[in-house]
Amino acid sequence: MIQFINISKEYKNGTVGLKNIDVKIESGEFAFLVGPSGAGKSTFTKLMIREILPTSGSILINGKSIIRLKRKEIPMLRRGMGFIFQNYRLLNDRTAAENVAFTLEVLGLSSKEVQKRVDYALGMVGLSERKKHFPDELSGGEQQRVAIARAIVNNPAIIVADEPTGNLDPATAEEIMDILNDINIKGTTILMATHDKAIVNRTSHRVLRLNHGELIRDDRKGGYDFEDR
Ligand code: ADP
Repeated sequence: MIQFINISKEYKNGTVGLKNIDVKIESGEFAFLVGPSGAGKSTFTKLMIREILPTSGSILINGKSIIRLKRKEIPMLRRGMGFIFQNYRLLNDRTAAENVAFTLEVLGLSSKEVQKRVDYALGMVGLSERKKHFPDELSGGEQQRVAIARAIVNNPAIIVADEPTGNLDPATAEEIMDILNDINIKGTTILMATHDKAIVNRTSHRVLRLNHGELIRDDRKGGYDFEDR
């Protein structure tokens, strides 16, 4: 569960990132975060992972306030989440399997356990056959699938995806959405920032719409039915 309680974020230079945001995303939900550039989407996701602190308000992740976490407790918060980015952010000198395994290395698991989890995650995204390929030997869609495998390999409760289909053609974007939907159906909460109207409109997931830092719409039946302004 992700809960923002009266969250405001004003940056040092006075710019408002978010203003009086009250929103609760339940465990197992899939929510889109939409809105024009500068609306506050990145501010929202950065607050969730304690990259930045709010000016006021409280944020609960799985019932626990993350505002007062000590610096050494932040990695634990982030370990409970998976991240997917528009530009994949894979390590180019590592194979697909090594990219996925990298996240697990800090956990001190046996190499057998790591391999089992990596194989499962790559299987979930349909990339078992490509596990020894390097990123530059994979298509954009395949690279994003590796990034998704990396995000789920630690079995996180929450996945935060920032424009995950932004660099992909519509058919590939749809494949990526199918994978994210499967992951969500298995119980993972997903928050996905996107500009892609077609994708939002094809699903009936919740849509949180930001504009100038305010939550101007919270639509549970989905749909992205008006223009960015
Ligand atoms: P989005 O992700 O929807 O494009 P952001 O959350 O990045 O929006 O930005 C929201 C507002 O906060 C914008 O006006 C942006 O210029 C401003 N902003 C973002 N980061 C900073 C920062 N580090 N310092 C000052 N202003 C910022």
